[in-house]
Amino acid sequence: MYRIGREEEEAIARTLRSKQFFKINDAGKEVYNFQEEWSKTVGSEYTLLMTSGYAALESALVALGIGPGDEVIVPAYTYIATALAVTGAGAIPVITDIDETMTLSPEAVEKNISSHTKAIIPVHIMGLPSNMDAITEIAKKHGIAVVEDACQSDGGTYHGRFLGSIGDAGAYSFNIFKVITSGEGGALVTNDRKIFERALIYHDASAVAFFGDQLSEVTEPLFGGSEYRVSDITGAILREQLKRLPGILPDLRRNCKAIVNSLETLKPIPYNDFDGACCVSAAFRFGSESECRDFAAKMREKGYGIQIPYDTGRHVYYDWSQIMEKRGALHPAMDPFKMKENQGLNMNYSPDMCAKSLDILKRTAYLDISPEWTHEDLQRIINDLNSIR
Ligand SMILES: *Cc1c(COP(=O)(O)O)cnc(C)c1O
Repeated sequence: MYRIGREEEEAIARTLRSKQFFKINDAGKEVYNFQEEWSKTVGSEYTLLMTSGYAALESALVALGIGPGDEVIVPAYTYIATALAVTGAGAIPVITDIDETMTLSPEAVEKNISSHTKAIIPVHIMGLPSNMDAITEIAKKHGIAVVEDACQSDGGTYHGRFLGSIGDAGAYSFNIFKVITSGEGGALVTNDRKIFERALIYHDASAVAFFGDQLSEVTEPLFGGSEYRVSDITGAILREQLKRLPGILPDLRRNCKAIVNSLETLKPIPYNDFDGACCVSAAFRFGSESECRDFAAKMREKGYGIQIPYDTGRHVYYDWSQIMEKRGALHPAMDPFKMKENQGLNMNYSPDMCAKSLDILKRTAYLDISPEWTHEDLQRIINDLNSIR
């Protein structure tokens, strides 16, 4: 969370006072209005607001018809929810190396594609755009889908297009750690009518046929799914948060650029699109793990919050215990790792399977960027960074 205040308080109060804060209502229609506003912002035909980024990823995979017997490529460096969305759909996550940009390596993706691969999930981690040109080309060549995990990159762009809007479907998160937030929340976007209809049916399974006219133009047959609907209070908060996005992002980018462009000896990571990155942090690359740890220790001594992504637990595949130990569900018959359709698929997980990613994650350090830093703050930070030897 970067900015929140009076406007969100008033939006919540307005919604509560209307006494109509179910999604379908005759008052504020906050969920519907947010969906329209988000679609306009990112340039996608359809948006479905739901409970989480996980819910959006799983709904996208289900809507693509992905399930048992299918492999889905996920990066070795992402939040565990990306991989769990794949097992949630009954499919097998194929853990794949990142490259120096911290995002999926197109070469590693190409190597991991098999006759069972149905989708690639590029993750724009820390707001860093993935190499969408290369990934889209690979997906086209093999006739497979791209589902963008834009959960950490609300509002980011790649060559002028909004992250999440480039693939067949995209997922955003609005939990408290993201660029804009409603505490919890997520959204799916797509331009594909079939994916939209199926995700609508899946994410609102127990109510879609009973409330409002949600099915009026829907031709996809109903099927059983989950219940990931949100209330109008979520919609109301996010409509205010969305208004803040055009203020937050330029401030983050200005501060990140000022730092990256003033580095004397430190090296920034390479970017697939620096201008489009959300710039929630500045990332530095070192020649060795010990150089990186030495830098982190010296900066922490000066009071800075420095993260080494290798240490961030659930964001690195070796720490995804449910996946690494192949416990995909409580009931054995519902566990993708035990399903007969999935036997023989690529699930030979081991802690060192993506050694190249681990090496990169150990040689990278993040400095969190604040959008509130002043010119004086920046001067001090740049001086401190450049005085580390
Ligand atoms: C936060 C996050 C998610 C999941 O979002 P939730 O809203 O917590 O379900 C998925 N992928 C990535 C990369 C994330 O950072």
